[in-house]
Amino acid sequence: MTEQDTKYDFVRSIVADDLASGKHDSIVTRFPPEPNGFLHIGHAKAICVDFGIIDEFGGKCHLRFDDTNPSKEEQKYVDAIKEDILWLGFDWGENLFYASDHFEQLFAWAVHLIENGDAYIDEQSPDEMRAGRGSLTEAGTNSPFRNRPASESLELFHKMRAGEAAEGAMILRAKIDMASPNINLRDPAIYRIQHQSHPRTGDKWCVYPMYDFAHGQSDAIEGITHSLCTMEFENHRPLYEWLLAHLPVTSTPRQIEFARLNISYTLTSKRKLKTIVDNGFVDGWDDPRMPTISGMRRRGYPAAALRAFCSLIGIKKTEGTVDFALLQSILRDHLNDSAERRMAVQQPLKVVITNWPEGHVEMLNAKNHPGDEAMGTREVAFGGELYIERDDFKEEAPRKYFRLKPGAEVRFKYAYYLTCTDFVKDEHGEVIEVHCTYDPETKGGDSADKRKVKGTIHWVSAAHAVDATVRLYDHLFNEANPEEGGDYLANINPDSCEVITAKVEPALAEMFDDAVQFERAGYFVHDATSTPDNLVFNRTVAMRDSWAKLEKKLQS
Ligand code: ATP
Ligand code: MG
Repeated sequence: MTEQDTKYDFVRSIVADDLASGKHDSIVTRFPPEPNGFLHIGHAKAICVDFGIIDEFGGKCHLRFDDTNPSKEEQKYVDAIKEDILWLGFDWGENLFYASDHFEQLFAWAVHLIENGDAYIDEQSPDEMRAGRGSLTEAGTNSPFRNRPASESLELFHKMRAGEAAEGAMILRAKIDMASPNINLRDPAIYRIQHQSHPRTGDKWCVYPMYDFAHGQSDAIEGITHSLCTMEFENHRPLYEWLLAHLPVTSTPRQIEFARLNISYTLTSKRKLKTIVDNGFVDGWDDPRMPTISGMRRRGYPAAALRAFCSLIGIKKTEGTVDFALLQSILRDHLNDSAERRMAVQQPLKVVITNWPEGHVEMLNAKNHPGDEAMGTREVAFGGELYIERDDFKEEAPRKYFRLKPGAEVRFKYAYYLTCTDFVKDEHGEVIEVHCTYDPETKGGDSADKRKVKGTIHWVSAAHAVDATVRLYDHLFNEANPEEGGDYLANINPDSCEVITAKVEPALAEMFDDAVQFERAGYFVHDATSTPDNLVFNRTVAMRDSWAKLEKKLQS
């Protein structure tokens, strides 16, 4: 192993070697999305690779829209893709391309192939063509049109372009080898008829290049040096290279494949995500449960955390599935440092302080971050009636339950020590009110005699708290492998979004873009629809579930 092998992943090693050997003076990569849906977390990985390499080694990364199938592509996807890449922290600058920019050159190159006897017009029906392709174990059979004169193919190709042929009536195929063990080399289709208006070229064209003909050729036109893609294109590489070898290209890009990103409980296929959106299982592409970049942004995932995640999983050749918990743990690490703290009560239970001076309100100082003084403090109102979490009181509690229980003393964060003296139940036997006394000598949450209080709980003042709609998200799928059983729609989790009304401190009515920690509960962010009068929060990620585990242990 050379030093470089240990310093770099295999793609970066190739790039470093090509620079060191002088094969390339500078590197050009590209990110080539098809504008037929929103980008997802798998694309985030590809973006971090394509643009990240340029950040490290210098050069350029092109953003190229692979807009060769007008029946599925739309401008709104182009706009969303651009917004997502910029948000993720990358910029193509002046290097914005569309495969459709190259249509004229691609057509000329198709003509070049025909003239050289390397392509022909096939007029078989789609079914005949499929049957003639053979299978993994059987060679294909030659089309009866395979050896027609180049002049005839040329004439038909121009007819196709002129709109004089129906969709499916004929197609341009590269003439390679119908007996090749690689099915992609069995005379692949390279140009087809589509009587479709194109978002950019309008009605200028009714023939469109197939992906395999557009992609590598666009790479060559744009001077891409390293064309990075996912493993499913490995079998296409011989075709990629065959086409470059049979065309008068002036630059020869190299295709390199790496493994797709798969994450448990997550689908990374635009087509399937589109089905979920179109069938109303979620509220649009940017629903916070979606693994789309826009969904994750709306959910409060910091771009830096996504970049860190992509960097940590790295680039490999072998496919695997990354545990969703890894992403959550990276999110918590980032948010723990960056998120301000606020108090919010999700399942409110009223506390009445029986020895509190009637009508008295005290403004207490609360830290915005326990570890970062620079984030400052804020004032929080405290009065004789408070809300705490329902879970923070138990009538009959085990010995190790350090929250409120009859007779126990607990610290109310930033406030006082309170001792539970009594509680009130409704006619169903449910506790609806807890009575406490407070110790005036413990203001700020410390006692002069330093007596030990094991539990600290959060609270909001009943008179000052505001209501907020809070969406508690869970996995969109019930199964770690969403395809389990063969039908991802059947595995959609019907309880992936629980909506509650929480009581939150008024400081949360200030609008901000960054995630905030609801103390002890998790990280939350204002939803895009949130307003000061109608607060809506999305849970980005819950706290580490050590709390839930402890709870379970206590119950067992
Ligand atoms: P999908 O199957 O979701 O539609 P795609 O590959 O068809 O994905 P494109 O828009 O063609 O979508 O992809 C643009 C780039 O993103 C390609 O280079 C592709 O290899 C890469 N990419 C797509 N999905 C993943 C993934 N899960 N992990 C890593 N890279 C991906
Ligand atoms: Mg694709």
